Amino acid sequence: MPENCPVCGQHYEPEPGFYWGAMYISFGFSVPIVLLTGAVLYWLAGDPDTWVYVTCVAIIMLVLTPPSFRYARAVMLYAFGGVRFDPSYLKHK
Ligand SMILES: [Zn+2]
Repeated sequence: MPENCPVCGQHYEPEPGFYWGAMYISFGFSVPIVLLTGAVLYWLAGDPDTWVYVTCVAIIMLVLTPPSFRYARAVMLYAFGGVRFDPSYLKHK
């Protein structure tokens, strides 16, 4: 992650350790994914063995970790970093 936005120069880290809170946001993304995966497996696969649940959830979480990591940081920055997207800024450049 660059220190500043290459387009507008916005500094991405308001304070040291700012993104620790993104762990909780990422956790908030993960819980519904795990529950939804379990529910889908239960209904579509007819309550398979435990190893099927664990394997499917592990694979899905591994695939979704990069976007979850990035979206959690973006949500953290928007929610607590005082950053707002201003589309009109791009028109002035
Ligand atoms: Zn920017």
